[in-house]
Amino acid sequence: MKKRYALTNVHVINGDLNRKLQKNMTILINEQGNIQQIEKEQSTTIPNDYEIINLSGKYVMPGLINAHVHLFSDGKPYHVSLSEGILDFAYNHLLNTKLGRKILKKRMKRNALTALHSGVTTMRSVGEFFYTDVELRDEIIAEKFIGPNLLVSGYFLSVTGGHGAPYLAHVGDSPWEARKNVRLNVRSGVDLIKICVTGGVTDAKQIGEAGRLQMTVDEVSAICDEAHKIGLRVAAHVESTEGVRIALKGGVDTIEHGAEMDDEIISLFKCNPNSLDGYTSLIPTLQAAYPSAILDASLSKVNDVVKENSKLVYDSMLLGVKQAIRHDINMGIGTDSAMPFVTHYDLWRELDHYIRQTSLDTKDIIDLVTRSNSEILGINESTGTLDIGKNADLLVLEKNPLDSIEAISGVNMVMVKGDLIKSPSIPNISEVDDILNSVWKAQNSTNETSF
Ligand SMILES: [Zn+2]
Repeated sequence: MKKRYALTNVHVINGDLNRKLQKNMTILINEQGNIQQIEKEQSTTIPNDYEIINLSGKYVMPGLINAHVHLFSDGKPYHVSLSEGILDFAYNHLLNTKLGRKILKKRMKRNALTALHSGVTTMRSVGEFFYTDVELRDEIIAEKFIGPNLLVSGYFLSVTGGHGAPYLAHVGDSPWEARKNVRLNVRSGVDLIKICVTGGVTDAKQIGEAGRLQMTVDEVSAICDEAHKIGLRVAAHVESTEGVRIALKGGVDTIEHGAEMDDEIISLFKCNPNSLDGYTSLIPTLQAAYPSAILDASLSKVNDVVKENSKLVYDSMLLGVKQAIRHDINMGIGTDSAMPFVTHYDLWRELDHYIRQTSLDTKDIIDLVTRSNSEILGINESTGTLDIGKNADLLVLEKNPLDSIEAISGVNMVMVKGDLIKSPSIPNISEVDDILNSVWKAQNSTNETSF
């Protein structure tokens, strides 16, 4: 049984962009960790056994949902390019050992807690080693520690030589092998299936290779059929227009990252009979490519291939985002935390990026990162908006995020399933913060809309 709380004197932002900010409210949270009541301050009677937290004029909004993360890394850039021999050695002799797995799990747990303390109460983890993500999710559900709600994919599904293969992926080279790999992941308890339809920036060896097609439409269809029949969603890593087309035709539920669209792609997003919901959503991850694309190589330390590929992917992804907004394609938000310069506590930077680069305002962005993400992930019954009966997943802010989205960078308190973190603490990575802040400040002072 959990502690009961009364959060008094707060301004409530529901998450749903169609609902207005409610001033001077009291929120009651019951022993199951659910929202029991949201009412005007004066008209609420608080039962005796509720701990009163007077938030005097602060803002409460739904906990943030990051729809695209990896827990295995913290976002610190790695300054060496690793040859296959070194990678192979590192995997077999360091990571895939008893001690290596133990260290990995500890690091993943720390990253999940960092995200939680920054206000992210739900994370969808899309590609991890050894099903450690499944273990962590189960420990959180069993209340072994207070952590964010986790949706986990286990291993990627990829093709021979494909993105993430061989270490981070189950490899399959035909529709039947692909089905088998879905079954392996399902047996291990995943919540969703993550596939790699094209290459990626991290392991591309040539300029232009990041978006190169790797999976066939038959393979994607087989994976979607196998996953959908037991109600699991399929998330597709895609970094080119042709990749998006193949993934949509195969029936995936979300396009991760994305690219510039044409008419066929736009209509497939909006009406996709092979997907679980009848349409497909876009989860862009602008932060995953932006710093490596724009930072001077002396700062980012990435090589020319990574820089050029990041630029190609970023430019095309941003075009796709603008088209999605214009054509009313369903969209959510993720960051790809774990990529260089993408920490687990910086979701606000992605939100801020949309405000600068697109026509969306703070209200739209808050809706995307809470309500919309919860619907795309299929968890809107329990989280995503502040409504009676849902989990008390919320964050408390000093300033109004509707005025400036940067308010989200300074979280005052966080609650997940009714468990309150009164003094969140984040282990900042100063080498990343310093560089990103300098870019951010430069943008502010020059007031540039495009960098
Ligand atoms: Zn990713």
